[in-house]
Amino acid sequence: SFRAIRVTKDDQGHRVETVTLEESELHEGDVTVAVDYSTVNYKDGLALADKGIVRTYPLVPGIDFAGTVESSTHASFAPGDKVVLNGYGVGERHDGGFAQKARVSGDWLVPLPEGLTTRQAAAIGTAGYTAMLSVLALEDAGLTPASGDVLVTGAAGGVGSVAVALLARLGYRVLASTGRPAEAGYLRELGAAEIIDRAELSEPGRPLGKERWAGAVDSVGSHTLVNVLAGTRYGGTVTSCGLAQGLDLPGTVMPFILRGVTLAGIDSVQAPMERRIRAYDRLARDLDLASLERMTTVVGLDEVPSVAERILAGQVRGRTVVDVNA
Ligand code: NAP
Repeated sequence: SFRAIRVTKDDQGHRVETVTLEESELHEGDVTVAVDYSTVNYKDGLALADKGIVRTYPLVPGIDFAGTVESSTHASFAPGDKVVLNGYGVGERHDGGFAQKARVSGDWLVPLPEGLTTRQAAAIGTAGYTAMLSVLALEDAGLTPASGDVLVTGAAGGVGSVAVALLARLGYRVLASTGRPAEAGYLRELGAAEIIDRAELSEPGRPLGKERWAGAVDSVGSHTLVNVLAGTRYGGTVTSCGLAQGLDLPGTVMPFILRGVTLAGIDSVQAPMERRIRAYDRLARDLDLASLERMTTVVGLDEVPSVAERILAGQVRGRTVVDVNA
């Protein structure tokens, strides 16, 4: 038996509890993994708060984990292999990472990239891998450090922190937008050249503004994304992966039709395996591990519910790793 967090829903409503489970109680899969670390993402916050993420009950939440294969009937994995999992509906409709054991389809597992520990892979997590997918999308659109400044919104959050660190390491001049001025020092340590007060971007603005950045990584949505588009230079690209401010997009087409700006959508959950492997290869190469450590806080399984509440309130800095065996 092993420890897990589980969400249930019945007549008494939605409940989050810490339980002891047997492997046979987990959803089926052809690979069983001894989990070392899970993580808390914004989406995990939504899942624990009963905000439309959990599709089946009871469920072990947790959209990420990293650990060691214990048993496998999948051709690609054998006992002892180190693996990472992000998304694929795990922690939404299949038992996830907030447990000492996970049983999943081997088709969803990424081999731990060389040069990364399971703790570092968890520190990256869905948020960091999504930041990498965003940077790949900017590169695929032709952005280079010579194109001009790059803006990261929600910079002190998980996606934002990894995006700032990656872009700075790749040689970009990074503008970091945050609502937490106290984190300016932290963001500069990650490589931000300039800090922007997020209030400048979060209110309704003009359809087109001064051209301030050549590219942007947005995890905030709503008015912020609209203003980010309005401030993008001619021919620039903006990626959209998140909705921390809101899921609306209350803007105009002016940046697209007058400045040729591209809005690139980023999905991590169903991203094909080939793209995941490309993202992890790049993370192993281009993410400064000292920066990763600086943005990481480690908690135990029992602290997950309180971190989940704080992440929805925008109070969590960087990435939170869950040591499920602590
Ligand atoms: P997070 O750590 O909570 O980061 C979100 C950040 O957004 C906060 O730290 C805060 O940054 C900023 N923020 C929060 N509330 C805001 C508001 N009302 N107005 C403006 N800014 C606000 O969350 P995360 O795990 O990085 O995820 C970020 C977003 O990306 C979430 O919406 C998540 O669902 C989404 N996401 C999507 C995918 C995908 O596959 N598409 C994958 C991963 C994440 P500051 O304090 O610095 O301002």
